[in-house]
Amino acid sequence: MRRPLVAANWKMYKTPQQAASFVESFVPMVGSATAEVVLFPPAVDLAITLQTLSAKIGGAKIGGDAKIGVGAQNMHYAEEGAYTGDISASMVTGIGARYILIGHSERRQYAFETDEIVNKKLLTALKHGLTPVVCVGEHLAQRNEGQTESVLHEQVFEALKGIGAEQAAPIVIAYEPIWAIGTGKTATPEMAGDAHRFIRGEVAELLGSPVAEKMRILYGGSVKPENAKELMQQEEIDGALVGGASLDPASFCKIVEAAG
Ligand code: PEP
Repeated sequence: MRRPLVAANWKMYKTPQQAASFVESFVPMVGSATAEVVLFPPAVDLAITLQTLSAKIGGAKIGGDAKIGVGAQNMHYAEEGAYTGDISASMVTGIGARYILIGHSERRQYAFETDEIVNKKLLTALKHGLTPVVCVGEHLAQRNEGQTESVLHEQVFEALKGIGAEQAAPIVIAYEPIWAIGTGKTATPEMAGDAHRFIRGEVAELLGSPVAEKMRILYGGSVKPENAKELMQQEEIDGALVGGASLDPASFCKIVEAAG
């Protein structure tokens, strides 16, 4: 009932030329996949990624109803202003991107994004009709100290503050345990399943069960072709947010296929 979504977070990798060449190779490979696919290139690669996709598939659907979508890795919550180096939601939608990554742990760590900023960005994203992928997840020390659920509770409640059930449909949550991102260590399917169940319970408490049952919760953290199937078989895991293994078209395609 929840369509799987598999997203590629390219972080600060790929020049515009490399982004175009990824799309050229990737599109013919995923012809039969049914999952919704989203590419999150660096902001300067958005235009060429969208143009190359459009030239390659011409708006045609890839696998049933799913198209390959494109999103930005970050945006400011303000409509516009003196924020050198930032981009706004209107710029993201204006270029043709439809998704936005919010609160990735690398932004929380290196750009000091707080739960409050995450919440402001989420409100802006919804206002602009973007599909937000909101990242949450605990540090290793927090897991070891038994704080995983309290951390997730805080992050989910703060992120969704002021959002009504009627606005929540587009929201996607990505559970990304920080100790699993880029480390080669993956949460076991059971660990991830437990965290996802907990997050869904939190969403149900805030926005009601019908919203929670429909909300897609992705797993992220060293997902690779070798572990994707096992993770994706968990009932609670509705897809993946993939960093390192999304940089190569063949490897990312295998993960997309594992999702459905
Ligand atoms: C990510 O960037 O969100 C991520 C999960 O990275 P990796 O797959 O490399 O762990």
